[in-house]
Amino acid sequence: MIVKSNRDEFLNYLNDTSGLKAGDVEAVYIPETYEEVSQVLQLAAKEQKLVTVSGNGTGTTGGRVAPGGLILATDKLNQIHSVTKNLDGTGLITVQAGVLLSTVHVEAKRYGMIYPPDPTENSAFIGGTVATNASGARSFRFGATRNWVESIKVALPDGFILSLKRGEIVANDFQFNFSSGSKTYSFSAPEYLMPDIKHAAGYYSKPDMDLIDLFIGSEGTLGVIIEVQLKLLPKPEKVFSGILFFPSETNLLNFVEIAEKLSNENVNSTELLNATSLEFFDEQSLLFLKGKYPKTPDEAKGAIYFEQECTAQTEDSLLEAWYNLALEHEALIDSSWFAQNPKDDEFFKEYRHALPALINEFLSRNGVKKISSDIAVPELHFRDMMKVYHAHLDGSPFKWVIFGHIGDHHLHMNILPHNEAEHTAGKVIYNQFISEALKMGGTISAEHGVGKLKVQYLEQMYGKEGIKQMAKVKACFDPAGLLGRGTLIPETFLST
Ligand SMILES: Cc1cc2nc3c(=O)[nH]c(=O)nc-3n(C[C@H](O)[C@H](O)[C@H](O)COP(=O)(O)OP(=O)(O)OC[C@H]3O[C@@H](n4cnc5c(N)ncnc54)[C@H](O)[C@@H]3O)c2cc1C
Repeated sequence: MIVKSNRDEFLNYLNDTSGLKAGDVEAVYIPETYEEVSQVLQLAAKEQKLVTVSGNGTGTTGGRVAPGGLILATDKLNQIHSVTKNLDGTGLITVQAGVLLSTVHVEAKRYGMIYPPDPTENSAFIGGTVATNASGARSFRFGATRNWVESIKVALPDGFILSLKRGEIVANDFQFNFSSGSKTYSFSAPEYLMPDIKHAAGYYSKPDMDLIDLFIGSEGTLGVIIEVQLKLLPKPEKVFSGILFFPSETNLLNFVEIAEKLSNENVNSTELLNATSLEFFDEQSLLFLKGKYPKTPDEAKGAIYFEQECTAQTEDSLLEAWYNLALEHEALIDSSWFAQNPKDDEFFKEYRHALPALINEFLSRNGVKKISSDIAVPELHFRDMMKVYHAHLDGSPFKWVIFGHIGDHHLHMNILPHNEAEHTAGKVIYNQFISEALKMGGTISAEHGVGKLKVQYLEQMYGKEGIKQMAKVKACFDPAGLLGRGTLIPETFLST
């Protein structure tokens, strides 16, 4: 095991992309075996030291930013154990937590399969994506990481390693009673009602939930995920994509409504219009992108990126279906882009991924932090939420962009302040967005998790009672509250 105890040696473990600053960290432990993970946790328990689990630091909400104590880094748990493929073309991959998401994609592809969740940041560790229940553009069709986790191994705060296979331990009316090795556990899952939308905030809760789902999305507060087994799908014969530009947001929203409806009706079809991704760029996003990609049409007030699986036989008819649907909704058809070959598909992906990087460049040029939302609302209220954004942002002094996973009614609203005063004013508006979204039955975080940045909003969402119930679950595994301190659960709740 590598141990770094000189701060200068471990500066790269002290941040993520949230801009939060770490506390007085004593050392970073980088175990190479599961036994070593247990040893670090046992040492921390014995000496009552805080432990923060570190993935690859691509998180946006400060989950891995340690308040002090020890950091347990998963970098060296980087073995691919196995890839198996069934006769029907589906399969399983078993990897350690520190394997890169990009490696999982490459391995799956090598065997003619895909790992369906596609969080944008490929340099995340797979353990980090499971700990945050990450999702991405393709979650419109495939859902979040949770749906693709078959089993995990998790090291609990006392060092005990729990192996969980989906379907083996299930709650009865929220109540878990189970034994593993010499240990017996009995506790109740939180009983709050999770919104029935894309959602990644707080511990999972359902009356008949699987224990594995408690650990998925628990953001390093219940245990260290050391190994995961993930489900894979057959690689589609072909995928094509397009970027459709619209002269007004109303046209665009009407288009999305129908594309979404058809996609849901035609699920699993490679013959009928059926998107795997439906992604949105607002007018401000296109202005940003135009700086790098001058072919972005001037007159566009918004754009949609779509992706569709097809076969050689169905490709032309599906292209025509997308073309006609765009035409019906008065898309700027002559300026829109339809992929003619795999190179075009790659370029469209690059165009979609370029926006967060361009925003980050703007922020570092101006030395300011963005205010960034991860709100999703039920479909019924999506247009209302858009109206709320416009009511506060149109005509305001702020620079902003709104983009993201419109098929999931989940957009990232980013205010990009020019200075500290604007940052403070932007925070006020952000709080209003959260309140409005919660009134509509929405979530404070659909994919990035709560981390340390959004703890106060989680309390707003679930109330003190909801947080107390989470704290009780945590106390069952981590009675001293040493793991992931400051993430998800405010310190004041840890002794309840
Ligand atoms: C440009 C960009 C684009 C992004 N796009 C997306 C996107 O499309 N979808 C999305 O969901 N996210 C996205 N993210 C956020 C980020 O990539 C994900 O949250 C990712 O899952 C974090 O993985 P990581 O290994 O970097 O984890 P870290 O940032 O290191 O940690 C994240 C949290 O997980 C915990 N953790 C990490 N590993 C483990 C483990 N093995 N066991 C227990 N707990 C652990 C940490 O303690 C922390 O709380 C994006 C980030 C960036 C910078």
